[in-house]
Amino acid sequence: MRIRDMFEKGTVFSFEIFPPKKTAPVEIIYNTLEELKDLKPDFISVTYGAGGSGNSVPTCEIAHTIKERYGIEPAAHLPCINYTKDEITAILKDFEEHGIENILALRGDINPDIPPKKEFKYASELVEFIKTKGDFDIAGACYPEGHVDTPDMVQDVLNLKKKVDAGASHLISQLFFDNQYFYSFVEKAKIAGINVPIEAGIMPVTNKKSIERMVSMCGASLPPKFAKMMQKYENNPEALRDAGIAYAIDQIVDLVSNGVDGIHLYTMNNAYVARRITEAVGNIIRG
Ligand code: FAD
Repeated sequence: MRIRDMFEKGTVFSFEIFPPKKTAPVEIIYNTLEELKDLKPDFISVTYGAGGSGNSVPTCEIAHTIKERYGIEPAAHLPCINYTKDEITAILKDFEEHGIENILALRGDINPDIPPKKEFKYASELVEFIKTKGDFDIAGACYPEGHVDTPDMVQDVLNLKKKVDAGASHLISQLFFDNQYFYSFVEKAKIAGINVPIEAGIMPVTNKKSIERMVSMCGASLPPKFAKMMQKYENNPEALRDAGIAYAIDQIVDLVSNGVDGIHLYTMNNAYVARRITEAVGNIIRG
């Protein structure tokens, strides 16, 4: 099923997972998926190794299994700057042969150690290219606080419009901890003529170090309430996890009450946390 059609039925609720590290057996992700499937997300997206370290095989294999074994619609992430058009064509063919209909088209982060291949500069070019290669439903990424490469938010939103005009049928946002940034971004997007559904990316804090690394990479602001919580429970992992779950639930309730198109939960492959959040917000999202 095409993800774009899911928005017609109401608020979409999706999960994001990542393939296990090269040194770990791929089976561990299937143990996680065994638990995630019971939570009945509308779709599950599978990331693609960041920073040029990627390989399409795990993403394709896991996405295929999500569909075939668990009966859930998958979306495969695909970053383009480290690929030629021929390489992307081969990956798309593989996706198609594995029944993958939904792609999150991305530029990818620029790794200073891996020079980009220069055939794709922006995700919008990938979206345009995919359109010529098959009948995929294509999503794009968006940034409620602006993308780190473009300090001018207005320009960033205008660039986003190009991605939508190229054929992205919905957008998934970068994580954020202050919903006001998301509301303000959605307003700017609408003013710019972006009329596709926008899912809000929510990342529950489960571990102080990982969240600090994420935040330093993507530039998300930490509201005082959130920073205090991390500080208070930094040496108590269970309390920090519970506080992080409560914070994410609070964000989601507010977003859904304000009519958000969808919630994309960055599960970090943690089925326990995904379960607790889903149990708390299930009726609210489906209500
Ligand atoms: P783009 O849309 O190309 O934007 C990148 C920058 O270029 C922005 O600053 C934008 O304003 C600017 N820009 C765009 N078009 C133009 C133009 N025509 N002229 C001038 N400037 C322009 N990375 C991975 O490697 N693997 C993943 O699996 C992955 N999953 C992600 C999932 C989500 C939901 C999100 C939000 C990000 C994900 N990323 C992933 C990270 C992403 O690759 C980076 O954030 C990357 O730096 C930008 O990708 P993009 O697709 O948003 O790029």
